[in-house]
Order: sequence, then C-alpha cells, then structure tokens
Amino acid sequence: MSFEETRKDFPILTQQIYGKPLVYFDNAATTQKPVCVIEKIKNAYYEQNANIHRGVHFLSERATEAHECARKKVQQFINARSSNEIIFTRGTTEAINLVAFSFGETFCKEGDEIIVTEMEHHSNIVPWQMMCERKKVHLKVAHFDENGMLNLDELRKLTNENTKLIAVAHVSNVLGTVNPVKEIAQIAHAAGALLLVDGAQSVPHLQVDVQDIDADFFAFSGHKIYGPTGIGVLFGKEQLLEKMQPYQGGGEMIQKVTFEKTTYNELPFKFEAGTPDFIGSTALAEALNYVDKLGMKNIAQYEHDLLEYARIRLSEIDGMRFFGNAPDRSGVLSFLVGNIHPYDMGSILDKLGIAVRTGHHCAQPVMDHFGIEGTVRTSFAFYNTKAEIDTLFNGIVRAQKMFR
Ligand code: PLP
Repeated sequence: MSFEETRKDFPILTQQIYGKPLVYFDNAATTQKPVCVIEKIKNAYYEQNANIHRGVHFLSERATEAHECARKKVQQFINARSSNEIIFTRGTTEAINLVAFSFGETFCKEGDEIIVTEMEHHSNIVPWQMMCERKKVHLKVAHFDENGMLNLDELRKLTNENTKLIAVAHVSNVLGTVNPVKEIAQIAHAAGALLLVDGAQSVPHLQVDVQDIDADFFAFSGHKIYGPTGIGVLFGKEQLLEKMQPYQGGGEMIQKVTFEKTTYNELPFKFEAGTPDFIGSTALAEALNYVDKLGMKNIAQYEHDLLEYARIRLSEIDGMRFFGNAPDRSGVLSFLVGNIHPYDMGSILDKLGIAVRTGHHCAQPVMDHFGIEGTVRTSFAFYNTKAEIDTLFNGIVRAQKMFR
C-alpha cells in the first residue's frame, strides 16, 4: 500500500477549509486519527464501558483485559522488558512531572545536579526547575550549536559525580534534530547518573527501542501517534520504579489503607492513582497496531523523503531561513521568510487551507538562542504528500508577494 492511500483512513483530511482542501502540517502538535481509532473509542463506549480492576462483573473484566492488553502492546511497541515498566499517564508532560516528583523525592538531595538541554520543550524544563527549587538541586543546561546539534563535549564536562539525571528530547520539536540518545545514555551511566528521554516527537516517526537506547525513563503522548488525547506513557526501568515514591495518592495505587499506615500497590498500579483512561489506552493500542501494520521503518523512510523534499523545495524561496540543520532530522521543519512575522505567515497560509503552527512552540530557550520571537513550523505525517508541499510552497510565495 502506498502512503497516499492511508489518507482514506483519516476522515478529517477530506475537509475543505475556506473552500480549499485541508493541508494539515501541524502533526507535531497533534496527529489526526484513523477510523479504526475513532471506531475503537465509539465501540468501547457502546460495548464495554465499565470501571476496571475493581469489578467482578463481565463488563468490568472485559474493560480490564482491554486496558492490560493495551499495556502489553505499548511494552512490545517500545520493546520494554516488562509490562510493569509501562505506566499510563495523561501524556508526556504528566510522565515527566511524575519522574521529576517521584525520582526527586526518592533520590535527590541538596547539592545534586540535573542536566537538561537548551532545546527542550517546556515540559522537560519546568518540572525539573520545580523539583530543583524544592530539593535545592542545581539545574544545568547543555547547549546546541548553530546547526541545532547538541554539544556532547559540553555535556560530558557538565556531567560529574553530583549528576543525578540527564533529561533530553529524542527529537527536538522545533529543530527536528534527532539526538544521539544512546551515546547520551553512556555519558549519563558512566557518571552514575540516569537518562530520561522525552520521546514525544520520536515515537511517531522512528522505531524506538528503550532497551537498545538503555533509557532509564522514556515518555510519550498518545495523541501525537494517531491515538486519542488524554493518554500517554511513562516507561521506567522496573528496579527504579520499585524504589520510587508514588506520584499521586488515591484508589488503585494502594495495597492496604489504615489511618496509621498505608502500603502501596505493586507496579505498575503504584503510579496509576484513580480511574485511568482505560478507553484511551485501548484506543492508543489500536493506533499502535495501525502504525505497526504500516511499519515504523517504512514510515520513517517516507517521512524522511517528504522532509527532504520540503527542504529542497522551500529553499528556492527568497529570504528562506531554516532553523535546525543537523544531519539527522525528523518530523519538523521550522523557518522564517525575510522579515515576515510568523503569525502573519501562519494566518495567510490558514486562509489557503494550510495548517501550520507559529510561535515559540513551547521552547522559548530555542527562540532565545537564535534571538527570535518565533518561527513557522511545518510538521509531517505519513498521510502528507509532496503535492501538499507544493501547495505550501505556492502559499508562502503568495504571502511574500502580499508583504512586498
Ligand atoms: N515534549 C515535546 C518534545 C513535545 O513536542 C511536546 C508537545 O508538543 C511535549 C513534550 C508535551 O506533550 P503533551 O502536551 O502531549 O504532554
């Protein structure tokens, strides 16, 4: 099957926006959903809606089984050792907050250090800042160069016996840089530190193997990989999660509650307080089955070709300036054209039916690095086509003429 044929699985793509066919280039923010995922959600409410884990009745058992099967699917998808290592969260943001809190409370003390990079999404900065303030831990920053590549020598120098953890994006949501996370894991582990990988922008585009990376924690969001909003995943090595304090208290995360002392449930339930999004987890598993059928390697190759085509095509435009020129890139293309404000460019493209994102993309330190307020960001999925990139090209040229 050609990737163009997948478009028929995504009903939203047939829409007209202001009388023009929708060109959806905002996939890094969220992806569209295939019919099978939408149907899964609908059917789950039609046929198997009952709260999980606590019921003896048929529907509850069925819903529980679907939720636990989804966990196994995620385990297999990212090649975790055990399904106990898969914690369902609301998304990447909640997964990182969970680690920053629970890891911080359990393992960090005054004088310790955490390293993040200059290219992180705010959700891989702010939770660490909050933890550092609470625990009097020092936050250090590893920088990137003008091409958007991390300075690994600097990272090595920053890492020492006080470093507790390095938190890094697998793929930057602005620059598209694919960071060498395997090498960063070695740097962290050589110093006795741990590695958290923010996989929000890698899981939808690359085959991820958490064991091969040797990541200690890995986070991603369901809605960025064709699944529903409100469900995401934290992978953590079992021996670490075992030791870490719970993140939230409530139902399901306990073994025994008395007013004198409460004991906690085993993994993964210790970190899933309250009713989890069991419909979302089932629909996420459906989305993962869908991409598995297409094949992550095929997806990566197709999207790589699209990205290269876009870069070549758009570089023909006068005054085009790309942000992120690392040799290994994925998913996104950020740019500015002359001195056209990104918001103006985005608004004109919108009137032509083209959805792009403009602004700082929740990565203000990246904007500060370049001394800019924001960029226009196009981000791709396997249902996008070269013809759509041509439409984008024409749209940008038209905007440029308007501003001349
Ligand atoms: N990390 C990166 C690199 C992202 O691009 C995003 C979202 O755009 C996030 C984290 C946060 O994801 P979510 O809002 O789904 O929690």
